[in-house]
Amino acid sequence: MVRASGDVQIPEVLRDKSNLIAGRWVNAVSGETFAVKSPVTGAVLAEVPKCGPADVDAAVAAAKAAWPVWKATPVFKRAEVVLRMAELLRESAETIAQVLCVEQGKPYEGEGLPEVLETALNFQLAAEDVVRMETPIIPMRDPAKRVLTFREPYGVMAVITPWNFPTVIPSEYLGPGLAAGNTIVMKPASTTPLSMILAGRCIQQALDEAGLPAGVFNLITGPGAAVGDYLVAHPDVALIGFTGETVTGEAICSRAGIKMTLMELGGNGPVIVCGDANLAEAAKAAAFGCFYNAGQVCCATERILVDATVHDEFVRLLVEEAKGYVTGDPFADGATMGPLNNEPTALKTELHLDDARAKGAKILLGGARETGKPTGLYFPATVIDGVTKDMLLNMEETFGPVAPVITFATDEEAVEIANMTGYGLQMAVFTSSIKRCFWYADKLRTGNVVFNDSTDYWEAHEPFGGGGGTRSGHGRLGGRYTLDDVTHLKTVAIDIEKTL
Ligand code: NDP
Repeated sequence: MVRASGDVQIPEVLRDKSNLIAGRWVNAVSGETFAVKSPVTGAVLAEVPKCGPADVDAAVAAAKAAWPVWKATPVFKRAEVVLRMAELLRESAETIAQVLCVEQGKPYEGEGLPEVLETALNFQLAAEDVVRMETPIIPMRDPAKRVLTFREPYGVMAVITPWNFPTVIPSEYLGPGLAAGNTIVMKPASTTPLSMILAGRCIQQALDEAGLPAGVFNLITGPGAAVGDYLVAHPDVALIGFTGETVTGEAICSRAGIKMTLMELGGNGPVIVCGDANLAEAAKAAAFGCFYNAGQVCCATERILVDATVHDEFVRLLVEEAKGYVTGDPFADGATMGPLNNEPTALKTELHLDDARAKGAKILLGGARETGKPTGLYFPATVIDGVTKDMLLNMEETFGPVAPVITFATDEEAVEIANMTGYGLQMAVFTSSIKRCFWYADKLRTGNVVFNDSTDYWEAHEPFGGGGGTRSGHGRLGGRYTLDDVTHLKTVAIDIEKTL
């Protein structure tokens, strides 16, 4: 029974040769490694390969060589293999989730284990959806012609992912990407590669059991600025799936040229609390959105916009809710928030709070790192009132456990503040008026809007992603919608008069 992160046994397979290239578990060509440290305890959990261009070349070559066979594998067979990946992930869910929590920091029961189960679900959904990818037959002016369309995989798909959801975000690309017939080279985030390496073992086992050629799935670790950059620019990579910061996405797009990209980037989601909202529900959902995964979620509640007429009562309720979030070890009873994952995130949170304080905002709860913890990454649930439009808390994604309260006078002003940052991933509105729901749904510039629930609401199979023309990216993750983005439409015209 694991009662603390120190009890988690790091599997032996993570200690050596933890990269997968052409079906073999290997070290970096250079032999170099880097340490993965727990934000919970500060302990080094494992050393993983520090790859470079030679490793990327080998992984891409393996994926390229495997592609013709994997693409030609009948879709029902591919679906069967991807479904087996889901099964194997479920069987290993507890082990993977324990490692995930100790390397990422999130609570095991409420967040880590559910994440791995959702990881498995994403493979299952991809397997179920891919066999129903019907495509149109197009009516033509020429009666001799029959025009059909087919969905084709791109080829080698690069997948680069962040540390806040170490297995579920990769699975949003890997399930559909593989099911649709692409082969993969993936690079997990450098602070959280271990749980994905374990998940990768399940993926490879399913491929081995089916007798498929080596190289359908490859996984390499190493610094994004070197390995990731080289990977996305590689001439044999045809498609890129990336989740991470907006600036990184922009850098990748400029390196990728005309390659197809799916970009799931930053968010700055507001919750808008209207005067007619159920305030208790709104406060509960806002707190959840701010503090779930310690605020390190792309669709976290980054800002709370409150109608001035209900401000005082709402803030009182919000502070009460926030007091219910307690930091601690992911396996400790009563801990509802872990540490932040890394020092840059803690520094950014402090920077945004310092900026707000200097400009006159008032901390009502929390506000500084906790002392007396095993690492300096524990940051308490923080509520800050009197936030204004010019503050970094409003304009930039903070990615920490902070609930910044901004007051508005009219619905028009709420929309102006919500839309002004350029991010547009997921926004939420609390109102009891259906008319207001549709008004806000129309006016908010965002990919997703939630009414009367948290910005942190999603289901695995719904289309999720940045709103058109925003800094939150393009493409859709979730269920069958991703299958469209990881394939291209091939049109086949046949002149039947000229056939036998
Ligand atoms: P980063 O952009 O820093 O890193 C993401 C991944 O990209 C990591 O694997 C990283 O490697 C790699 N990388 C870094 N630089 C480059 C480069 N130049 N070329 C190629 N790859 C590179 O993001 P974070 O890990 O900090 O993740 C947090 C961000 O992710 C937040 O902005 C959040 O909003 C966003 N996000 C968006 C989601 C969405 O669905 N829209 C969902 C979840 C998160 P390394 O780790 O080695 O640096």
